[in-house]
Amino acid sequence: MITRLCSALCMALTTLIAGAPPSYAAGAVNIYSARHYQADDKLYAEFTRRTGIQVNRIEAGDEALLERLRTEGSSSPADVLLLVDAARLSRAAAEGLFSPVDSRVLQSRIPETLRSAKEPGGYAWWGFSRRARIIVYNRQRFGERAPQSYAELADPRFKGAVCTRSAAHPYMLSLIAAQIEHQGEAAAERWAKGVVSNFARPPRGGDTDQIKAAASGECGVALSNTYYLARLMRSSRPEDQDVIRKVGFVWPDQKGRGTHINITGGGMVRFSKNRESALAFLEFMASDEAQRMLADGNNEWPTVPGVVVSNPALDAMGSFVDDKLPIAAIGARQAEAARLIDKAGWR
Ligand code: FE
Repeated sequence: MITRLCSALCMALTTLIAGAPPSYAAGAVNIYSARHYQADDKLYAEFTRRTGIQVNRIEAGDEALLERLRTEGSSSPADVLLLVDAARLSRAAAEGLFSPVDSRVLQSRIPETLRSAKEPGGYAWWGFSRRARIIVYNRQRFGERAPQSYAELADPRFKGAVCTRSAAHPYMLSLIAAQIEHQGEAAAERWAKGVVSNFARPPRGGDTDQIKAAASGECGVALSNTYYLARLMRSSRPEDQDVIRKVGFVWPDQKGRGTHINITGGGMVRFSKNRESALAFLEFMASDEAQRMLADGNNEWPTVPGVVVSNPALDAMGSFVDDKLPIAAIGARQAEAARLIDKAGWR
């Protein structure tokens, strides 16, 4: 896997360093992607098969890609930027790294709540797959008494039981931004302080670590994106199956606002030199076929209504009511969320 990633990345890097070889000829599309899932290979191949347009890509973490775009400025070869969180998409848009796109195809396919706010010239970014942030709990410790809402994570009944990853991580910032959007900053801060006072341990690790800590009993309840749980559910490793046996999960806020969702998404890069190819690629991402591949590749859901994926882990997790808050509104509250976690001591 690492070799495969490196070979793709190193090849792309070499291409960049070498200047403008044939693969960077006009008409190709150069993608900077923070997605790094094997199944995306098939997605790019399908795009080339349909359109004849070559795909070159650089895969790296969101932060590294943003830094690279800032440094490269107008000489960047990038045409399309794909990121994996509303917070980062919004930041990239605020920094002017995108070129707004006005596309009838995208506007008719991607729901308004799952794209950026409208700007002069169109929309900076579009959501291409959805994930939800769920509560995972230790079955033995909490069984039927698991929290049913994000609000309950602050309930004294869960004192010493709550684990999260760092609140400075975009997944947490987006969840906290959603709380601010729903209840205002003061109430969200009270909530955040309540969650912090229920900590089993200081925040650390990624989402999979939270699930494993809930399984081991170190944590009673934790937060995770759905695809991390789905990944463990689909794993054949005995230790992963053991984790799955020990945890349960809750779709939070089913009786209220619905479960918080986030997206992976992308848009055309401001200084794109292959704008037609970039647009063709973005529109392809909203096609039924691409939507299925995108979602299934990382155990997520499509953003285009009516596209059905058949994924055993997601099917087993069942359906849920999602929070209809516009993703752009969550993105716009990142700075407030960052201030709030400082005040609440949630680091
Ligand atoms: Fe992730």
